[in-house]
Amino acid sequence: MRPKTQVIHAGIFGDENTGSVSVPIYQTSTYKQEAIGKTKGYDYSRSGNPTRHALEILIQELEHGKAGFAFGSGMAAISSVLMLLNSGDHVVITDDVYGGTFRVVDKVFNRLGISATFVDTSDPDRIKNAIKENTKAIYLETPTNPLLKITDIRKVAELAHQHQLLLIVDNTFATPYWQNPLDLGADIVLHSATKYIGGHSDVVAGLVVVSSEELAEKLYFIQNSVGAVPGPQDAWLLIRGIKTLALRMEQIEKNAGKIADYLSAHAKVRKVYYPGLASHPGHEVAAKQAGGFGGMISFDVGDEATVNQILSKTKYFTLAESLGAVESLISVPAKMTHASIPKPRRDELGITDGLIRLSIGIEDVEDLIEDLEQALS
Ligand SMILES: *Cc1c(COP(=O)(O)O)cnc(C)c1O
Repeated sequence: MRPKTQVIHAGIFGDENTGSVSVPIYQTSTYKQEAIGKTKGYDYSRSGNPTRHALEILIQELEHGKAGFAFGSGMAAISSVLMLLNSGDHVVITDDVYGGTFRVVDKVFNRLGISATFVDTSDPDRIKNAIKENTKAIYLETPTNPLLKITDIRKVAELAHQHQLLLIVDNTFATPYWQNPLDLGADIVLHSATKYIGGHSDVVAGLVVVSSEELAEKLYFIQNSVGAVPGPQDAWLLIRGIKTLALRMEQIEKNAGKIADYLSAHAKVRKVYYPGLASHPGHEVAAKQAGGFGGMISFDVGDEATVNQILSKTKYFTLAESLGAVESLISVPAKMTHASIPKPRRDELGITDGLIRLSIGIEDVEDLIEDLEQALS
């Protein structure tokens, strides 16, 4: 099945019992047992729910893994995956990782005895140098947020497996439509499904796919024990969102390419971060490991005053946290998504006060460019 067909037909199509073409929302917490322990496969909705199950099979197939798991948010997914580690373990993580990931590692898991080293994973040698005796995992985000740095997943997978480390990849920005980390050697792929997978800014959720039965068993145990699961209605919204994932990602790709070119040529723009630009340091690796470059573009206009001017003038770019939806969004990472990262560290990374991040939507690109043109002038 090709990807455009897969988003429609993978997983469980409709409902066997009724012929319903849409997977039903099984809004139930519990299930009738014919006798004690005699069930139709479900006994309690934290442990399993048919709507959630349909979503979990769907994401498993889209990411070419052994098992899929749905969570109540991307952070719930990330936290549940990190719970595979034990107190005393160490993990190497991408330095400009999502702010919430940095926070949960630095403030929660650190307190529980799991330590981390944050490095620029786009340089595999830095990962190698950060590996310690107690290192158990490498955690990548690629492309990163908001600087769109690219890490060579295949190279890091080799390194991880030489050292018997788990390779975990946050694939939120690329989506399973463009990039399948498990095919490149990763052990676990995860998503904030709040973003492109949901795609309509109407649901908060997370998804994980693992490459082995052993990991599936361990993660299921954590999912069921901790219980950070989504309700059936949110699971259904994700199934519906995925139906148009291919269409959306194709349109976003076209729009983003044109906008990146437009910004690159603009006199007021000092720097554009977009992996689709040949000048981007990760361009070749991105082109090799992913089918598309995605819809996230960051650009630096130098100072806060210019940022504020642009923010106050855009009409179609809505000022908001989040990304990956049908409507274009604009944000200032230093003040919003990445505010939980201390300023000295932000400056070190290049997340300056003059940096603007765009999440390109599926609108007519001419309108989007005109909007940026009037805001920048
Ligand atoms: C948003 C995001 C997360 C966190 O997901 P939530 O659904 O907000 O909990 C994790 N990683 C990346 C790359 C994200 O963009």
